[in-house]
Amino acid sequence: MTDGKPIALPQIPPAGSGSTGPWYAGGLRFACTQCGNCCTGGPGFVWLTYADMLRIAKFLDMPLDKFTGQYVRRLPEGFSLTERRNYDCIFLRRENGKAMCGIYPVRPMQCRTWPFWNQNLKSPHSWDLAADRCPGMKAAEGPVHALEHIEACRNHPESP
Ligand code: SF4
Ligand code: SF4
Repeated sequence: MTDGKPIALPQIPPAGSGSTGPWYAGGLRFACTQCGNCCTGGPGFVWLTYADMLRIAKFLDMPLDKFTGQYVRRLPEGFSLTERRNYDCIFLRRENGKAMCGIYPVRPMQCRTWPFWNQNLKSPHSWDLAADRCPGMKAAEGPVHALEHIEACRNHPESP
């Protein structure tokens, strides 16, 4: 929501303008609408680090081995949360038409750094492609995320 003041759109320098920095140097607007698209869809993976697993198990008040036995799949590439038959993440909940994460305060780093992933930041076109499934990336309102935050997410060692 806004307070009635004009919305300041992210400043994206035109190509060849001589500006330094990446195309998103002026920040990017993003406000999650809780549609849940990023927590479902086709088969996918929510990768987990050991630190993620420890944190989530503690939040759920479960011993680590019980947590991994119930919620984690082991794959050649690493560990991932399990998903339901409809490909919903095992922790996705829906209430009153809104998607909720059942472990939001301790969700995996992969979820925390969305949508500021390398693959989405390659170009404005890459951002627009990802935004086709993530309405929060097209939000006309909501906060503009500063370059520092975007780069911290993009460069996080546990970000895809
Ligand atoms: S797809 Fe985007 S808007 Fe929808 S729940 Fe995920 S982050 Fe939020
Ligand atoms: S852990 Fe939470 S935020 Fe991440 S995919 Fe599952 S429901 Fe979505």
